[in-house]
Amino acid sequence: ETDRGGEKLKTDVWTAFLRVAGDEVDDEKFRGMIKQVDLLEANEEVIIIGVTSKLMKSRLEEKYRELIEVLLERVTGRFRRVEFSLVKPKKPANKGREWSGSPRLTGYLNSKYTFDSFVIGKSNEFAYAATESVAKFPGKRYNPLFLYGGVGLGKTHLMQAVGHYCLENRKDAKIAYISSERFTNELITSLRGKSTESFRKKYRKLDLLLVDDVQFFSGKEGTQEEFFHTFNELFMEGKQIVLSSDRPPKELENLEERLVSRFASGLVGDIQKPDVELRMAILNKVADEFDTRIPNEVIAHIAEKIIDNIRDLESALTQVVVQASLEKWGLITIQKADDVLRKIGSFNKGRITIAKVQKTVADYFDISVEDLKSKKRTNTIVFPRQVAMYLSRELTESSLEAIGAAYGGKDHSTVHHAQEKIANMVSGGFGVKGDIQELIEIMKT
Ligand code: ADP
Ligand code: MG
Repeated sequence: ETDRGGEKLKTDVWTAFLRVAGDEVDDEKFRGMIKQVDLLEANEEVIIIGVTSKLMKSRLEEKYRELIEVLLERVTGRFRRVEFSLVKPKKPANKGREWSGSPRLTGYLNSKYTFDSFVIGKSNEFAYAATESVAKFPGKRYNPLFLYGGVGLGKTHLMQAVGHYCLENRKDAKIAYISSERFTNELITSLRGKSTESFRKKYRKLDLLLVDDVQFFSGKEGTQEEFFHTFNELFMEGKQIVLSSDRPPKELENLEERLVSRFASGLVGDIQKPDVELRMAILNKVADEFDTRIPNEVIAHIAEKIIDNIRDLESALTQVVVQASLEKWGLITIQKADDVLRKIGSFNKGRITIAKVQKTVADYFDISVEDLKSKKRTNTIVFPRQVAMYLSRELTESSLEAIGAAYGGKDHSTVHHAQEKIANMVSGGFGVKGDIQELIEIMKT
């Protein structure tokens, strides 16, 4: 009866939470911990999470409460305080996500991103076949493999699938999965700490190098130089390299010609937007993760409405299920689903990049982009930096982690703090709202 509904609600909200956390947070400790906890209770104000040890309780309370609150707010559409409660260990691990760690692996792979869980359609079959072939015959067929396509179409998923396959099937292989931003930040850190030698060793002694989103190498000359040498060394040794980008090599701006030509020298393949069959197939797969039944017509309807980003597609369905649970709809109807879609549609994010936010904010406050990325603590810089972080969060699809990385390697909690602070100032009438609106106007035109 009501309890059964309550159980569903809990598991579906938690399934949704794990989905979002899996996509947004790179923090390995956080991921490890949320695997071991579970949602106990949710009401209008509070969400109670059951933890099985005191140590974990205090770690979560001290370090991760805010992050969990933000993620749950995203999932449920409304802020609720999070509390932790000690419980006896009982059930086996959640059916949600897990993440693999291995001494042979640099970076982290989301265990959901495998070949098995990748749904194939016309738009991605070429990319799928190419990555599968590279996974099976690394260094032999297509080197490098360069994948490109729009946001949320499965590039990261396929690259990580190569990583998983290699971890499983080639017992001694050393693998790195890394974003170009992370490569950049690690390089900078190693230069500062005078540890470039170990940095080089790490990346030049790999069997498989997966670099995601290489468009962010643009304009970073020092990093390009370093990456060029890494690339050559691996390539000459016959080691497999896989790269992804939002556009083909020739359209990458501010990238040295010699890198562009290396990137294009193997196989270049694209991922197109999904057709309606693929969108339906993906939604059906997501629907299976939830306890609540979702009528076919609702799935078809969502597939009709959300057409150009698979992450958005999945998240639309997730939001519908969560609202259905929270509001106890009973039956999910097209009309009710539409209300939810409309609500999230209003938050639809434009094609604004972090780099664009940084440039616009820096110009607006008459400081440099470098200042935004620096550690300087003067007021003339701290405030613009917080505004920039806030806007990066509001206007791009980037995670807290990714934004932190783009601001000179800052922690996700720093980004979150900035976001909260500026949001409070905007709603609190501190005269900041005008600036924010103007900045958004500038970026949208
Ligand atoms: P990109 O790196 O191109 O921006 P991602 O690989 O991060 O996109 O994919 C976005 C989300 O959509 C991920 O959760 C991913 O698992 C999912 N996804 C994308 N394509 C597929 C697919 N063909 N089958 C299953 N899930 C997919
Ligand atoms: Mg990606």
